Amino acid sequence: TAFNQLALKPALLAAVEALGYPGMTPIQAASLPPILEGKDVIAQAQTGSGKTAAFALGLLQHLNVDTIRLQALVLCPTRELADQVSKAIRKLAANIPNVKLLTLCGGMPLGPQLASLEHDPHVVVGTPGRVQEHLKRGSLHAGGVKTFVLDEADRMLDMGFEEAIDDIVSRISKHHQTLLFSATYPDEIRAVSGRVQRDPVTVTV
Ligand code: AMP
Repeated sequence: TAFNQLALKPALLAAVEALGYPGMTPIQAASLPPILEGKDVIAQAQTGSGKTAAFALGLLQHLNVDTIRLQALVLCPTRELADQVSKAIRKLAANIPNVKLLTLCGGMPLGPQLASLEHDPHVVVGTPGRVQEHLKRGSLHAGGVKTFVLDEADRMLDMGFEEAIDDIVSRISKHHQTLLFSATYPDEIRAVSGRVQRDPVTVTV
């Protein structure tokens, strides 16, 4: 299926074209329509399925760069994945001027992160512990988050991030969309979805 069948912003369609994607992958074709409608989505998706572009296009579609506040928050299990996701979002945002994206990961010094946070980012990609720390100390404000993404949610639970995730959710605006991506679909993932999502659309490919 072609990307231009979706009501994506021209800047996003141009970015997809520049990347040379011939059409949507199955996970994109199944998840993007409900994502663009603003629904909560739980998707079982492996690495390599194109899941990153699915949630990246969703959060960029809903982003308003003229509003200087955090609008999209993506949680990843590791710094390596957070860096990869940040790069993918930057590529898809290439034609949207002035998007401010920040990566906030544990194991990195706090000072530079605090300095960067003095100018509010539109998008944050990070690991749960460090994002929670910034929310707690007030260096990050999530009251305007429209898109909340849990990437590789099963790995985040395996790494013991469940409490941090619940705490982060309690600090996010009530009016947000939650996109949960997980390679596996155990009871623990269903339980997290039940706590943090509302009437989610389930996508398996
Ligand atoms: P991911 O599953 O998000 O880790 O993506 C795996 C790879 O697929 C990345 O290198 C993407 O650039 C690439 N990709 C994402 N969407 C598409 C698409 N529609 N067509 C071709 N490649 C894609």
